[in-house]
Amino acid sequence: MSDCLFCRIVRGEIPSAKVAESASCLAFRDIAPKAPTHVLVIPKAHFDSVLAVEDGPVVGDMVMLAQEVARAEGIAEGGFRLVINTGADGGQTVGHLHLHVLGGRGLKWPPG
Ligand code: AMP
Repeated sequence: MSDCLFCRIVRGEIPSAKVAESASCLAFRDIAPKAPTHVLVIPKAHFDSVLAVEDGPVVGDMVMLAQEVARAEGIAEGGFRLVINTGADGGQTVGHLHLHVLGGRGLKWPPG
């Protein structure tokens, strides 16, 4: 996926504010944060969405890196939210699987 925005971030062709990294995943700050902490955790390999994932490890790896981010950002104790928007109705705007890590304020439920 040579022209995928997040693949280009993984390759370092587009700058990002990196927060953490594992062998399979990268975490960087969302360019338009919706909360005091808003980090995106993505697999380095391309998946169009969560529907393209055919086995569990990649999602587990994303959650493990999200845990690390939440602790490092100081939001683990107070609470935070993990979100994977999927498809048009789900609000997905970038076609590369990503997990939003949101925290640092009280988050409302249900989402809009
Ligand atoms: P979604 O709407 O769930 O697909 O989330 C895509 C997210 O990517 C949005 O929250 C955008 O603000 C964020 N985003 C788009 N371009 C960039 C970028 N170059 N660097 C960091 N975050 C980005």
